[in-house]
Amino acid sequence: MRIITKTLLVFLLITLPLGVNSQTIMNRDTRIAEAVNGISVVNQRAVVQDLVGFHNRNNLSSKTDPAKGVGAAAEYLYQKVTSYIPQSSGRLSVEKVYYKVGGPDTRLKREITLANVVATIQGSDKTDNRVIAVLAHYDSRNGDETDSVAYAPGANDDGSGIACLAEMARLISKTDIPITVKLMFLSGEEHGLYGATHMAALAKQENWNLIAVINNDMIGNSNASETNTETNTIIRVFSENIPVVETEEMKRIRVYNSAENDSYARQLARYIKETGERYVDNMTVKLIYRSDRFGRSGDHTPFSRQGFAAVRMCEVNENYDRTHQYIREENGIKYGDEIWAIDFEYVRKNTGVNLATVMNLALAPSVPENVKLITSGLTNYVNIIWEAPKQGKKPDAYYVLIRETDQPDWQKKILVRDTQAKLPYSKDNYFFAVQSVDEAGHESLASFAYGSR
Ligand SMILES: [Zn+2]
Repeated sequence: MRIITKTLLVFLLITLPLGVNSQTIMNRDTRIAEAVNGISVVNQRAVVQDLVGFHNRNNLSSKTDPAKGVGAAAEYLYQKVTSYIPQSSGRLSVEKVYYKVGGPDTRLKREITLANVVATIQGSDKTDNRVIAVLAHYDSRNGDETDSVAYAPGANDDGSGIACLAEMARLISKTDIPITVKLMFLSGEEHGLYGATHMAALAKQENWNLIAVINNDMIGNSNASETNTETNTIIRVFSENIPVVETEEMKRIRVYNSAENDSYARQLARYIKETGERYVDNMTVKLIYRSDRFGRSGDHTPFSRQGFAAVRMCEVNENYDRTHQYIREENGIKYGDEIWAIDFEYVRKNTGVNLATVMNLALAPSVPENVKLITSGLTNYVNIIWEAPKQGKKPDAYYVLIRETDQPDWQKKILVRDTQAKLPYSKDNYFFAVQSVDEAGHESLASFAYGSR
């Protein structure tokens, strides 16, 4: 009986929405499922409560007061994550990365020194230098970005994202994973993405093999202002269409392949959808085909500008009465970003989407290399060739991903043991990509098959 229950848990058959005549096999890795089930709402609420307790985390607030301000918040996060070092068997290290920013002519009006708190969980495979980064910002603001005195709780923006990273630090550091994960608790966001800009430049300068950047900014509010819509079953993932760093050569290849919907960031977003929905029940990951909201940006943006695959996770309903507002009540409406408005069940599920994605990606082999769609010859079969990744563990097999050209997401996954595939699908009517996969089913990001004669 026990065995049957366990098997059922691992192989959950879940039917697709009405109108689709097939079932999707949700093959859950026990280790990832256990980590996702271990996310604690109690812990996450405590983190947001503690952050709110620093009263105002404006970048211009005190760096030395032990009880209030952005400096006290940095020290709190540093200590919090450091407390997980003993359980990590030497894998976890934590540092404060300081940087100078601002000046008389900037939004900050003067030069200040800020700190990013960076937790690094070292991968165990020395032959694999891939890195995954997950971001959130701990600075806050109220109705005036220059006000470093009045209450600015920032419970949702971005206490919710910080609570996600804090639990990921606790859960990932106690398990062995092959590649390195960096959890970046960033400052400087509200005055111009300074903390992320510093880290993205560092990653570029030090030539990190950064394969995925996931920014979590506002993932705990489920109620929309004005329309009063309530949703804690959908999370948005924003990803860029055409890379902001696109060169003339990249443009030529994109146009030739009609690949405007297949940037690296878009493949990462699709991966988050597939993996997040596999491990988190009652959750839909909504792909938004935009870099970010109109007139807004987030800490993923500086990473996109450095050419990395970077996306933003954000709640589906935003509440503008609670974002960047002074605490007050007017005409029966409560303004301000306070903890009472956080939906911690929503934070927990969104953390699960992040955790499942990072662990699945960390356990997977590297992407296949030189994936090519052979365009020569008039044939109704598609020919795709690729090479095994040169670093890390060797894939057990590959998935060829297929979708029709008017479809937003991959529709079929075909397992292939060779490093080539000849399939009865017209190359003109479909898009193709290839993923590496290990024996346990952990798949890499998708590498789009670009046409080559
Ligand atoms: Zn924010």
